Amino acid sequence: MVGPQTEAAVAYENSTRRDSPPDLDPASAASSACAAILLALGSPVVQSSGPEYNATTQDIWNLFNTLDQPTCIVYPRTGADVQAAMANIFQFGSHYVVQAGAHSAMVGYNSITDGVLISFANMTSTTYNPQTGTVTVQPGVRWGDAMAAIEHLGFDVGTGLLLGGGISYLAPLYGWAGPTVLGIVTRYELFPVRTGTKEQKNWFGGSITYPASSSVAILEASARYIRENTDTKAGFIALLNTIPSDVTATVYLFYNGPSLPHSIFGDFLSIPNTSASLSPLSYFDISNLIPGNARGNGQQFGAASWVGDEATFLSGYNHFFNFTETFAADLVGSDLIISPIPQSQWNATKTGANAIGDPGVAPPGVQAGFELLLEQASSSPGLPLYINECDASQNVFKTYPSFAALQKTYAKYDPSRFNVEHTTGPIGL
Ligand SMILES: Cc1cc2nc3c(=O)[nH]c(=O)nc-3n(C[C@H](O)[C@H](O)[C@H](O)COP(=O)(O)OP(=O)(O)OC[C@H]3O[C@@H](n4cnc5c(N)ncnc54)[C@H](O)[C@@H]3O)c2cc1C
Repeated sequence: MVGPQTEAAVAYENSTRRDSPPDLDPASAASSACAAILLALGSPVVQSSGPEYNATTQDIWNLFNTLDQPTCIVYPRTGADVQAAMANIFQFGSHYVVQAGAHSAMVGYNSITDGVLISFANMTSTTYNPQTGTVTVQPGVRWGDAMAAIEHLGFDVGTGLLLGGGISYLAPLYGWAGPTVLGIVTRYELFPVRTGTKEQKNWFGGSITYPASSSVAILEASARYIRENTDTKAGFIALLNTIPSDVTATVYLFYNGPSLPHSIFGDFLSIPNTSASLSPLSYFDISNLIPGNARGNGQQFGAASWVGDEATFLSGYNHFFNFTETFAADLVGSDLIISPIPQSQWNATKTGANAIGDPGVAPPGVQAGFELLLEQASSSPGLPLYINECDASQNVFKTYPSFAALQKTYAKYDPSRFNVEHTTGPIGL
């Protein structure tokens, strides 16, 4: 679940022996880098067209990113392949991007045009070491496959993605899934959590769907849950699907025990609903309950962090609703997702607009309206933003208490600031 050790291939370190990269235009820099990487690693590893190339560029969660056409894709088999690719990317000053599960909602984070894409599609193994009690996963693994590989041992490595912190239903008890790391990760060694096999239904819960008329009650109950619940066995997430004039909410609620305690979930159980599906579940069942892998959405994610205050939730929701109504003609839908991060999650962590199916580009005005929404529904004072849910325009790192230390660490490993200038990602370092 948590990842105390990572093997980071920080290739810039090796690369700093060279002088600054040449000042080529992005297309030329990428072509030169690709030619050099091809020479170093050969054609199965480096591809510029073909079925594998097409699968990588199209099998991406956010449809906006499927519009990109990388100059070449590097499919490393080893950490040394990553280092060789990065050395040449640096040598020619090429833009680049890294892709693992291709599930990020952020535009530009996992594909690129006029740049090199490093895909971990061929580094996907999961192995359990009984001597150390750790699970080693390669960076291209999909969590479903990693979980399936160790489920028979009664373990889980948690869902939620390590690089941005990682939130799962186990997070309230065990903390963030992983620390934020810098560089390119070629291997994760994780301590698994014993959650039981898929036959062991030691959790209870599922989903409840509510009509539009229950939305305010859901928001208020969510605020109370976030403010008052301290039981780390409880898991919760709420989705308010806002399509003007037809608002529905779905709440997923779980408890690591034989039933849902009324003292924790009583509000949600008593709010008028349209349907409920609640039963004993294994953690494996829970992890597969919310469909997460389907591709085909052009999306934009943005985050705010709120304390459990009803007025803040209602105000944020009203801004969100106004945004949705204003851009209704350009949106297929918009969801407000409430994802609690209890104090126990920090305490436990000791270590360290898809219009009619065509991705197109976000219609003019939507980005500006979206940024206004993020400003209006801003975070409660002092709370950090959650990186995996933030739009690229949000200055995430600045909200972290250890911002100065992060800047210092970053400057140590990338003194020429190559990474922030040549790959898309969270701003601010
Ligand atoms: C519908 C939906 C639900 C989600 N639910 C959750 C949730 O419950 N909990 C949670 O924590 N997150 C959640 N997320 C966020 C999502 O999991 C993260 O955005 C995560 O980064 C995706 O991981 P990936 O391996 O698919 O990364 P990719 O999309 O492949 O890449 C994401 C970013 O990480 C970088 N990267 C990937 N691999 C490496 C590597 N080995 N080394 C260096 N950089 C790398 C990429 O360059 C890119 O910038 C959700 C996202 C969506 C769209």
